[in-house]
Amino acid sequence: MIIIESCVGCTKCVPYCPSSAISLGKDRKAHIDRHKCIECTVCFNNAGCPVNAFQLEELEFPRSVREVFATVYKAHKDTNVPGRGTEEMKTNDVTGRFRPGMVGFSCDMGRPGVGLELRDAEKLCMALAKHGVEFEPLNPLTSLMSDKKTGKLRDDVLGERVHSCIPEFTINEERFPEVLEALKKVSKEINTVFSLGLCVKINEDGSVPIMKYLDDNKIPYYPGGKTNIGIGVPLAKF
Ligand code: SF4
Ligand code: SF4
Repeated sequence: MIIIESCVGCTKCVPYCPSSAISLGKDRKAHIDRHKCIECTVCFNNAGCPVNAFQLEELEFPRSVREVFATVYKAHKDTNVPGRGTEEMKTNDVTGRFRPGMVGFSCDMGRPGVGLELRDAEKLCMALAKHGVEFEPLNPLTSLMSDKKTGKLRDDVLGERVHSCIPEFTINEERFPEVLEALKKVSKEINTVFSLGLCVKINEDGSVPIMKYLDDNKIPYYPGGKTNIGIGVPLAKF
């Protein structure tokens, strides 16, 4: 929040806000649009206000969800995972979350300046749940679901605006095409952007599952990944 009496209207903080939530009012003081604000604390930590007009508030649930999705120094209380999600597929050599015959998905929803309301994440999750996907239990979004079978989120968080979130889930390989179609369909109903990450185990012969499907259907993709090799002993058998 801004201590209005302190603000001298220098506008220094305005361009720092990734949500364009700060503007100068008719009173020539900076004001925060609470709906747009994603509680990222950038204004407080980085804008260099000459009169220290920014103050951090102790946020109550559900508004506090905004802050934990936007920062890495506060963890979600149910998952103990900070920020917007888990390490996804980057540590699969250790976690073994994604096994042969499975396809792992991460839908990276929202971007700086775009963001999303959690009701859009719910739309996506509910569309996918109809196809039998299994949501990652440690993902913070999963912990906000009131029904993990249908992908329904708690009603009290739906209006919360976050910087970004990453629904993560797995599906058996044979259901990959229908899940992809479901994602294409629901993308038209969602008021934000998202990109898709896929994770599969490479076959013994070196071929990559699902690649042929993507090629046959002329779906562009960028093979490769970020893998942290040798960081530990696998927790699960591959
Ligand atoms: S940087 Fe501080 S003084 Fe300047 S407009 Fe923002 S809140 Fe006001
Ligand atoms: S907390 Fe983040 S989103 Fe909110 S006003 Fe400050 S910089 Fe903008």
